[in-house]
Amino acid sequence: MKLVKDTDKPESNKDQITDLQAEEAFKTVIKWIGEDPNREGLLETPKRVVKAFKEYFKGYNQNPAEELKKTFGDVDGYDDMVVEKNISLESHCEHHMAPIIGVAHVAYIPKNKVVGLSKLARTVDIFSKRLQTQERLTMQIAKTLMEGLDAKGVAVTIDAAHQCMTMRGIKKERATTITNYFLGSFKEDLSHQNRYLRLISK
Ligand SMILES: [Zn+2]
Repeated sequence: MKLVKDTDKPESNKDQITDLQAEEAFKTVIKWIGEDPNREGLLETPKRVVKAFKEYFKGYNQNPAEELKKTFGDVDGYDDMVVEKNISLESHCEHHMAPIIGVAHVAYIPKNKVVGLSKLARTVDIFSKRLQTQERLTMQIAKTLMEGLDAKGVAVTIDAAHQCMTMRGIKKERATTITNYFLGSFKEDLSHQNRYLRLISK
């Protein structure tokens, strides 16, 4: 069964637009908000914003499945869940390009393979550094780990604040959104799911 759709691996079309063109676009936005892009403090701003955007959205050039190929075949008999919690998460919502800031918790139950712990956080990072909805982000991480690790089960939780909710629009500055996605034994066996939820809530 193929869990990861091809749309989960967007082709970067960054190459079609040059840095200079992107800088020009930001210069237009600076003018549009009523500022003078030629004032000293703003002269280098379009360049800096382009550089920052490259970092915010570097996930388009990275393939999480590739990262997960380096698994360790020997689990040494370990067959219980591995939980990595409070992985800091910074993403951007695809509706407003506003920051989504929060944490991700990731768990899996190995079958034959374990993976370096940093790879779980890497997977979170790669999908976060794209324009996202929290729901899709949660699913993409879970499905990619399930497939890449050939795990018995995967659980992913994201708890995040959306700045499009806190800074604008409805302005609920304390609201956070929690999404969960369970696959395999976490979905089928409620005792696994409950133990996971207890572990991440500590
Ligand atoms: Zn938004």
